[in-house]
Amino acid sequence: MFNYYNNTLESKARYVISSYEPDLLREPTSIPVEDIMEEVYGLSIEYQYIRNNGRILGETVFENALVPIYERENNEGYKLIPVKAGTVIIDAGLLNRRNDGRLRYTCAHELAHWILHKELYTRLGETAAMTKAVKSSESDRIIERQADVLSSYLLMPKGTVKMAFHRSANSPTGKITELARLFRVSKQAMEIRLKDMGLLN
Ligand SMILES: [Zn+2]
Repeated sequence: MFNYYNNTLESKARYVISSYEPDLLREPTSIPVEDIMEEVYGLSIEYQYIRNNGRILGETVFENALVPIYERENNEGYKLIPVKAGTVIIDAGLLNRRNDGRLRYTCAHELAHWILHKELYTRLGETAAMTKAVKSSESDRIIERQADVLSSYLLMPKGTVKMAFHRSANSPTGKITELARLFRVSKQAMEIRLKDMGLLN
């Protein structure tokens, strides 16, 4: 089990973003996470209903595999579809929401698994699935936490978030809303990030 310090993850996030476009770290703006996944990492993003209950939001396929998906259209239930290595399956239910924060967070979370845990999963022959449920084992919890932390750093880079925070003349609550919109993340994710950076109590 490898452990990452948060500042290691912070520099990994900066590296990922600057290998796509260094300007993204110079001025506050939203990070085009889907483009980074496709263009920098050669990943393909597919939208499917992963489960009937929407409990799995994203799944990264590390090796060619048959993956169960839920066939909602024709009421066919689950079926196995062949999926190529390097595919990120995102729950199609996320496409229907007006706020794209959760969709982008799920993409960034799966990209984080690809960056941090590819070797680990390839060895185990598993795909990575992001579930809403709390994972059972301690190592699973660590893996999920690392992916969440890197995801948050990718979507909300420290430098530009700080810049935007200090430029804003809004109240603390107003700043959360303003920055969440600017970086295209949920207000909840932005609030956690700002607290984490010590900018909010
Ligand atoms: Zn995950």
